[in-house]
Amino acid sequence: MRAFLVRGSRDLLVDTGTPGSGPRLRAALARLGTGPDRLSLVVITHGHLDHFGGLREIAPSLECPVAVHRADADILRTGREPPFTPVGPLLTALMRIAPMSRAGDAARSAFAPDLLIDGPLDLAPYGVDGTVESTPGHTAGSLSLFLAGGEVIIADALRGAIGLPRAPRWPFVVEDFDENRRSVGRVLGRRPSRIWTSHGGPFDLDAARRLAGRLT
Ligand SMILES: [Zn+2]
Ligand SMILES: [Zn+2]
Repeated sequence: MRAFLVRGSRDLLVDTGTPGSGPRLRAALARLGTGPDRLSLVVITHGHLDHFGGLREIAPSLECPVAVHRADADILRTGREPPFTPVGPLLTALMRIAPMSRAGDAARSAFAPDLLIDGPLDLAPYGVDGTVESTPGHTAGSLSLFLAGGEVIIADALRGAIGLPRAPRWPFVVEDFDENRRSVGRVLGRRPSRIWTSHGGPFDLDAARRLAGRLT
């Protein structure tokens, strides 16, 4: 699992890990000195269990709203992920053998979000210089964070290659591959200084441009 803490005059928590991540997450926030009074917002980047599974476990100690894109909100409310479309034949075969979520995960992960995002969300009221914006494709409601200084948290729109975490690859599963590719192109078009992903990274930006078919 990977979650991000974005620091500002108050702090944002981005994602909450797999079901069962609550204790590790609480310990990490305590170690970083971020108590409930410092957290202004939890952003769930998209409706996959490895990103929101730990939410319900930390919710009792949260005093801030939880935001998700409107298109993925029902996934949070029910805890049930949509069917995956694997990219490539190997993963198609693997997923037939081993489904990605376990029985019981939905019931222990369902969570009603407070704030539904359906356009750019300015983070200034939450103490952070940046925006949350829609970058659909991996899921319909996938979000990215664009932060001051050009850093972008792109979540699962890209992942690191196995064994080469700084080498970008397309995600293992997508709802709409072409839309995901367009979203990554838009992110790169804004000339980010660094792209953080939830699996691997941060990326070699030239390699990301080559992957997305943008050579400039
Ligand atoms: Zn995902
Ligand atoms: Zn993920």
